[in-house]
Amino acid sequence: MAKKRKKRKVQNKLLIQKNKTNQVKKKKKERKEKKKTFIIFLIVAFFFLIGLLIYENLEYKQIEYNPANNNTKIEEFISSFKALETYNNSEIINFIKIDDFKLDNVNKYLDYRSKYNLDYEVIVILVNNNIEYNKTISNIINHKSYKLENLIRYINYLNKYNLSIDDTIFAVNNNLDKEDIKLDNTVSNFMKQKYFISDNLRRYLNYYNKNKELSYKEVVTRVNSNLDKTFYKDVSPTDTSKGTLILVNKYYYLSKNYEPKNLVEISSKHGTGYLTKTAYNAFIEMYNDALKENLHLYIASPYRSYNRQNTLYTNYVAYDGVKEADTYSARPGYSEHQTGLAFDLGTTSNHHIDQFENSKEFTWVKKNAHKYGFILRYPSNKEYITGYIYEPWHYRYVGIDVATYIYENNLTFEEYYAYFVK
Ligand SMILES: [Zn+2]
Repeated sequence: MAKKRKKRKVQNKLLIQKNKTNQVKKKKKERKEKKKTFIIFLIVAFFFLIGLLIYENLEYKQIEYNPANNNTKIEEFISSFKALETYNNSEIINFIKIDDFKLDNVNKYLDYRSKYNLDYEVIVILVNNNIEYNKTISNIINHKSYKLENLIRYINYLNKYNLSIDDTIFAVNNNLDKEDIKLDNTVSNFMKQKYFISDNLRRYLNYYNKNKELSYKEVVTRVNSNLDKTFYKDVSPTDTSKGTLILVNKYYYLSKNYEPKNLVEISSKHGTGYLTKTAYNAFIEMYNDALKENLHLYIASPYRSYNRQNTLYTNYVAYDGVKEADTYSARPGYSEHQTGLAFDLGTTSNHHIDQFENSKEFTWVKKNAHKYGFILRYPSNKEYITGYIYEPWHYRYVGIDVATYIYENNLTFEEYYAYFVK
């Protein structure tokens, strides 16, 4: 019995021992597996890096030896470098840096450099264009208004018109050569005008030739306002991105579908209809200040849709005929009322806009509207510019700064727009 128990005890012990060794073995095996994975990872990473390096190198070599990169030019370049060993190499480097550098001209560049000691850029331009350096070119280059990028244009303009260096440089700097216009007294008088626009010069000259009795100033005013073109014929869609400075007249129209954003309804004490929020808020300020002086403004006619304008114009034409109607009513799409920035004024006691001029309100508005951002859009004596008869009742919102400038300088919006906005 005791023997049997002892035997079982021993057997148990053995079993426990076996289990222990098994556990150790298992742990060892796990550690080994981990090591193996790590080593595999290292090997993979190593080859990946090597691969990356080779790839990068290949790419580099491809760029270097790509036939598209013109091997022969590089070879030629190296050989001409060897041929030019007698020259100072640092000089060549200075020429190579210049964009228009041409390998074929290296000898000439260096020759010019040693003979005339000019700037590298000037030499490259002259040599590339086969121009001999001389006293005239020296005078151009040393002129105070000379610009390197215009050098060839000065030389061409000078060859064509044989003007003084002063005039040549002035003309080219103002792009007269691009329009092939010779600088003379007429041209320089136009250029002195306050609202001269260089893009319009050709048009000034044409208009002046047909209207010699006009002053230079008047020609500039008229051409800037497009009077060398025909009302309702030479037309284009207006640039609606100009916001409150959008120009609508007999040359610039709004599309049938144009409707201003932020239209708000006018309160009945201020008038009737709709205006853009900005214009209406400005009006309310003007209205309140006028009221303090016991003056009563009333908006009789603000925003008009394309369709509404169409109805109005059609009726006027039926009554007065096209020619007459065009002097006081805009064609649909050509009315400033479609912008939501313009309105016709009356007084609270008298909504008839054609009687507004005789009111105390008009006297006050004429003097003060600009302080709120409004201009009298169709002034007297400016009919030929605006295309409309004098309209003491019609005001247009353009913002305080612009309105003040237009008021103080006695301009029309057409003149202002051409010079400052377009
Ligand atoms: Zn109006």
